[in-house]
This record gives sequence, C-alpha cells and structure tokens, in this order.
Amino acid sequence: MTSARTYLDHNATTPLRPEAREAVHAALDLVGNPSSVHAEGRRARATLEIAREQVAAMAGALPREVVFTSGATESNAAVLRGGWHRIVHSNVEHDSVMAPARDSGAEVVQLVVDGHGRLDLDRLEQVLAGDGGGSQTLVSVQQANNETGVLQSLADVIAIARRHGARVHSDAVQAAGRIPVAFGELELDFMALSAHKIGGPKGVGALIVRDGLGVQALVSGGGQERGVRAGTENVAGIAGFGAAAAVARRDREELAARCARYRGDLERGLGLLGAGIGIIGADTARLPNTTCATFPGRSAETLVMALDLGGVAVSAGAACSSGKVKSSHVLSAMGLPAEAAGSAIRFSTGWTTTALDIEICLSALAGILRMNTGSPRKVA
Ligand code: PMP
Repeated sequence: MTSARTYLDHNATTPLRPEAREAVHAALDLVGNPSSVHAEGRRARATLEIAREQVAAMAGALPREVVFTSGATESNAAVLRGGWHRIVHSNVEHDSVMAPARDSGAEVVQLVVDGHGRLDLDRLEQVLAGDGGGSQTLVSVQQANNETGVLQSLADVIAIARRHGARVHSDAVQAAGRIPVAFGELELDFMALSAHKIGGPKGVGALIVRDGLGVQALVSGGGQERGVRAGTENVAGIAGFGAAAAVARRDREELAARCARYRGDLERGLGLLGAGIGIIGADTARLPNTTCATFPGRSAETLVMALDLGGVAVSAGAACSSGKVKSSHVLSAMGLPAEAAGSAIRFSTGWTTTALDIEICLSALAGILRMNTGSPRKVA
C-alpha cells in the first residue's frame, strides 16, 4: 500500500503491525518442529508458548485455554460443529457462525435483533426455558458486529444461558483490540479470535476453550494443540499473532479513544454533506472504529469503486467474506429495506488511521456526490 492511499477498511483486515512483522521474520528462521525434543524443537516450542501467553493475556484467558487455528472461521466451525442438540444464535452473526450451525445437524434457532441491531434478551430466555437449555445447547452471540459495529450485551446473554445450563460461544473477532475482551471474567465457554483484525498476519487465529471443557477435533492427526487441532503449528504466523496481541493489549485504550474521535469527525462530516446520509446503529453502543452509513438513492458498489479510484478503500456489505459485494443479511435483519441496505458503506479505522485520512475520505465523497456518481442504474 502506498502512502497516497487512505485505508478505511480495518474491519476487513488491518495493516500488519511492525512488531508482528518482526516476530514473523524471526520465527521464519527457527529450524525446529515445535513437537521435536531437541534444542531446535524446544526453541520453536518456546516461541509458540510465548505467543500463547500473549494471546491469552489479551483475551483475559489462561494460556492453556488457547488453541491456535488457521483463523476465526476455523475456530467458529470447530465449536459450532461440535455435536450440539440445539444451537441458538443471533441473525446478525458472521457467515462463519451461521454456515457451520446450518451444516451441524443441530436444531438451529435464530434470534432476531431490533432496528438497532440489538438482540432480544427476553426471547433468548423464552427459547432456553423449559427443555430448550441444558449442556447440549450452545448459544452463539458475537461481541461486536463486523458491518455495523453494534455491540451485544454479552454479560446478559451469558447470565441467561447459565440460568438454563446452556454453553456460550462468542465470536470476538471485531471486539479484540477495540473494546475489552474478558473471557475468564465473563465465564464464557468458547471464543474465536483472528490475528489479522488486530495487526497480525492473515491465516492464523485462536479458539479459546474454557479450562476443563473439550472440543471435538476438526483436524485430527498428530495431536498438536491438545488434540483439538492437529498439524505442525504455523509458528511464524502464531509468533506474529502473539506480538500483535501484546501491542493490542498495551494500546487498546489509546487506540479506541483515537478511533472514537475519528468516528465523530467522520459522522459529523457525513451529516454536513447533506445527502440524507444515515448512520446505522447511531443510537446504540457501537465499536469506536466503525461507521456504517446509508447513501439514499446511491449504489454502495458504485460508491466503493468511485472512492477506490479516489484513493480511498472502504467496504460495502459483508465484503470481507467474498470477492464481490453481496446483499447484507445483517442490515436486512435490522429491518433496513433492500434499497437502503444496497446503499450502505462501512468505514472502519485502526492503528494506521490519521485525521487527514478522514478529511481525504470526506472530500472524496463530496466530489463523488457532486458528480452524481453512484446513482443506481435505471432498469429498463
Ligand atoms: N467473524 C467475524 C465477525 C469476522 O469479521 C471475520 C472476518 N471477516 C471472521 C469471523 C472470520 O475470520 P478469519 O478471517 O480469521 O477466518
């Protein structure tokens, strides 16, 4: 990426932190297999275990609760495909939760969200009451939404699930590094994390499994990662994840405050553009770094392309999950009409963002809106 670009798509992936790059480089030169008993093997093992401690510290978990995976998609699948009788999840979960739930053979109950994107907790209580709960029921609720940044009150979800003996999984991919993530304190059972959303490398993540609980192995073989995830570990990726987790833990509050300022500047600026632009979830608790805005009468896909030509990278819909823009199940779950959902753009900031990026983005948008680019094509 050249410095001339303005990158406002941190929810899709974050630029690599220098500390993570350094850790990856150093680990690439480690000769040993972490399962080998000789000195070379022990050195590779030590690198893994340091990273495990760093990730555990960021997540508020114990090192022995951390299982390294290829990313949050794998972590979510490992839990969701775990042979549950019933899976209860919100209808704004990421596809990496919804798809394995659907394929798992469990009875799946989807809980609706309101117009602010917030889960109906009374409905959760009703679903789990009677014989809807128990230890064969898994409740899966994300901490923060990747498209809108809307937060769920996980502590309330967990309290309800506990009353009915159900297990709780949370996809904390977008929360990590932005808001507090407290696996142990919340008494969660399972949690998914991804390195590349916190300044680590792509293709590595973690599944946190509460001490004493088991998970059926998705990948079986050599018994690595306590038998939950076989295969020689991605030592370099994991080292980078650990380094990124340490920085995320150290800098989280300062970064969140900075991103919240940029979010305020961006949203005020969008209001001043005077094109009827709306902010999704404006009246509810959201991630400090995320703005999802609707542009009435415009096509998000065209706006994203026009912004890209203007040097600004943003997303439309759930673009981080596929090469092309598809309609957003999250916005439709919040009751947005298809036309409004099709005009929604996500701006997400992070550690590389500056105040100038926000100014550049707003002035690029002003130019695009003036030229009327992004109006939907007329259908004959
Ligand atoms: N959950 C959420 C909320 C996400 O935003 C993402 C990434 N788009 C994932 C899961 C998947 O993570 P990964 O890329 O590590 O597989």
